[in-house]
Amino acid sequence: MGTDNTPDHCTEPVVHCHDELQTLRQRYARLRREHDDLLRLMQQGQTTRIPAWLPSVVEHSPTLVLVTDLEGTVEYANPMFCDISGFSTDEVVGQSVFTHTSKMLPPAERDRMMRALIHGREWRGLLRQCKKDGDCYWLDAVIRRHDNPDGTANLVGIMEDVTERLNTRSEGLSNERRLGLLYRIANVVNVSPSIDELFPTIHRILLEYIAAPNFYIALIDKDNDRLVFPYYMDEMESFLEIRGISDPATKSLTLDVIRSGTPLLINAQDVDAGGDGLREGVSGVVGTMSAVWLGVPLMVSGTIIGAMAIQDYHNPHQYTEQDADLLAAISGQVALSIERIRMEDALRCSEKRYRTVSDSAFGLETWCSPGGRMLYVSTSCLRLTGYAEEDFLADPQFMLGLLHRDDVPIWTQFMETDEHSDTDSIDVRFFRKDGRMRWLNVVCRSVFDDDGSPLGVRCSMRDITDRKSLERRLSYESLHDTLTGLANRELCLDRIRQVLARSKRRPDYHYAVVFLDIDRFRVINDSLGHAFGDSVLRETGLRLLHCVRSLDTVCRFGGDQFILLLDELESPREAITAVHRVREALAKPLTIGDRSIRLTASFGIVLSQSGCTQPEEILQNANIALYEARREDRRNHIKVFTTRMRERAARTMFFENDLRRAIQNKEFYVLYQPILSIKTGEVVGFEALCRWRHPIHGEILPSDFIPHAEDTGDIIDLGLLVLRQACATMAEWQTAYPSRADLVLSVNLSAVQFSQPSLVDQITCILDETGLTPSCLKLEITETAIMRNAESALVMLKRLKALGIQLSIDDFGTGYCSLSYLLQFPVNTLKVDRSFIVDMSKGSQNTEIVRIVLALARTIGLDVVAEGVEQADQLDLLKGLSCDFVQGFYFSRPLESTAAKALIAGARTS
Ligand code: C2E
Ligand code: CA
Ligand code: CA
Repeated sequence: MGTDNTPDHCTEPVVHCHDELQTLRQRYARLRREHDDLLRLMQQGQTTRIPAWLPSVVEHSPTLVLVTDLEGTVEYANPMFCDISGFSTDEVVGQSVFTHTSKMLPPAERDRMMRALIHGREWRGLLRQCKKDGDCYWLDAVIRRHDNPDGTANLVGIMEDVTERLNTRSEGLSNERRLGLLYRIANVVNVSPSIDELFPTIHRILLEYIAAPNFYIALIDKDNDRLVFPYYMDEMESFLEIRGISDPATKSLTLDVIRSGTPLLINAQDVDAGGDGLREGVSGVVGTMSAVWLGVPLMVSGTIIGAMAIQDYHNPHQYTEQDADLLAAISGQVALSIERIRMEDALRCSEKRYRTVSDSAFGLETWCSPGGRMLYVSTSCLRLTGYAEEDFLADPQFMLGLLHRDDVPIWTQFMETDEHSDTDSIDVRFFRKDGRMRWLNVVCRSVFDDDGSPLGVRCSMRDITDRKSLERRLSYESLHDTLTGLANRELCLDRIRQVLARSKRRPDYHYAVVFLDIDRFRVINDSLGHAFGDSVLRETGLRLLHCVRSLDTVCRFGGDQFILLLDELESPREAITAVHRVREALAKPLTIGDRSIRLTASFGIVLSQSGCTQPEEILQNANIALYEARREDRRNHIKVFTTRMRERAARTMFFENDLRRAIQNKEFYVLYQPILSIKTGEVVGFEALCRWRHPIHGEILPSDFIPHAEDTGDIIDLGLLVLRQACATMAEWQTAYPSRADLVLSVNLSAVQFSQPSLVDQITCILDETGLTPSCLKLEITETAIMRNAESALVMLKRLKALGIQLSIDDFGTGYCSLSYLLQFPVNTLKVDRSFIVDMSKGSQNTEIVRIVLALARTIGLDVVAEGVEQADQLDLLKGLSCDFVQGFYFSRPLESTAAKALIAGARTS
């Protein structure tokens, strides 16, 4: 959102809407400023430890400040952090910050955070934290990495507690809805020609957002010392007026609001409470007291002209402070409009008043003769246009010359109208003397003599540039995605709503909603940079637009997800054809700068027959279909939603809940599959493989639960559980058979675990606990997990290696590890993926691949384990290729620990 063309002298209503957008921006700007200050100060500091001056700088900061090292160990927390979290400094400093936060952050977001920080970018987002007493709170955080001159680095987090704001917002109107309301009100107040029309319209609009059947507007009539009620809708009363308002003894809630000039939200208890039966600041009630009453003053340039109120006789909790704010925001616009209408009335009444008002008014007032010659122009012309009165009066065509070229025709046509009424108006653009372009709203009225002969035309012109720009911003930005210019989620939901309504009326009506997600977008973003990623999204948007008809809607749903709403289809098949078209369009090479890539996407489709009744339901189902299209790591797939999918999705969810319970109930256990030396035939180690003994479903294999555990983040706990148990078992075996203290235990590590900064600490802890020698532990990490972010993987691998443990690249050959990386990674072993071993036969392609891998490994000094050996001929071939180690059903299936122990014992005695 650009602020550059937003005028700084906004009128009242503009200020209110503006606030909405502005506060967010300001808040982030402030957080960022504090960050900069802090980092600058740290730069000046000599040591990498927390400099002595730091506490004094942030001691009294209302924001929470946390400084950690790269592992997340807290080095400093300011008092505000301790205040809010309930932890003392001692309890926080020296501890890993991730013990409090990591589980609270969804894995994907945690990834994003780590990626950003490792690459030296800042991370900004919401963090859900736990207080010492277990309560949750929300922080709006900006975290940045600070590189110290000595090569070390810190993470600096500046955070604000936003718990309260989030909680209130979730109950009230969404921001979009609020903006929508303000925008609609802004529109009607600017065009309503009379008060009689204005008030009911406002009430009607208001009713769509707040429960406000009882609504009234009261205006001060100073001359008669009374309040009049030009609009009063009430189920109990109808007021004509309240007299004697200047007398302090006159009591009414409306007068309280007018006298105090502030909104008042009050319910019956407030009135009944207190010594004299009234809450402080409440003077009294006229008529029936409602269960809840909310009033706001109507104010124009600091002067109160009346009040506006809503009330509810039944539910004392109907309104909140948020509603009060909203009503207050509207009141500014309403008041201004009342004032405008009054002024126009005044103009109509008398020429004299007209002159005085017009000369000082915010608009430009002119009189033209019946021949079209300008007879009078208000002095405000200088302020408004930069030109003097004489310029206008001397040249009848002067105004015409100032107009924007495109607006000349409507101006000419309008001016040539024979008879103008007050309701006619046009909006035109003109150029000020200083070259700036402004918008004018022009209202003309023909004036006649008593005998009906024309006297001339009165033209009032008002500068409406502010309103125009607000309108444009609100209507466009609130409904469109800023990056791609496509419809946003809000607009998309709205269009789907319309489609649903239509389908209810017309049985033969077909539509389709397509959920589209770019495959591997994260990889593109990570490897080619965010600017590149943004360009990809923009280009995708353009291609999508080209593939659909003008009556369809293309929406960016967020991230790399798009939605197509295909309307008025001949048949459901047409939707599938359209999606194929999109797939082809995306497949064309996409070149940005000197880089060229090819995109694929996955699609989930919901057709009109699905029987959905809610837009949210449609999107949910489309998302389920997309999930199906993506199952088993597929890409470039299309799936049409069926109810069976929904059942499966429900089961998956059920499964994930089960998983959490199972970890607590210790239903997971570990099997051990031997790994043998080809040369000696001796068992050299075991791979630990996890199993789930489910109370109902029996034994479940890892392929059925590990992906879910990764999605939910439970893999972190599960992985540690396996690691702890396996290390303990191996340590026990080594103690039992000291001659086999050389056995190596291989344990699988998931990508999610691998990106956890606390991993190193946790492994250290487990090694200490179980007493296993570090060199006897080998961690297996899949090639894909490593290559997902090779840079940070390298850092992590080095840190793990520093513990003295061994590392292995699992499923080697299925990812895209480049040689240059392979040379840098401090690994000991490559595990050739089973898929290569399965169809190894003499001279086959797979045999060649294995041969190359072995040659490569030998050159750079790595061991090779061939996994999944099932047959004697596979073993023979591997022997021929001088492979070092093997693992597979041919030798042994994964064994219970007792059986594995017996195997060691047997091998020892034989
Ligand atoms: P993996 O790391 O590639 O493990 C080898 C898998 O191949 C094991 O399957 C093993 O039983 C199977 N296997 C071994 N030899 C043969 C053979 O000769 N023929 C055939 N057909 N299969 C063989 P399992 O135990 O079902 O595990 C599957 C995958 O689940 C593992 O693949 C690993 O990626 C993952 N996994 C298992 N346990 C854990 C764990 O504790 N943590 C994590 N993160 N992943 C685990
Ligand atoms: Ca493995
Ligand atoms: Ca493997």
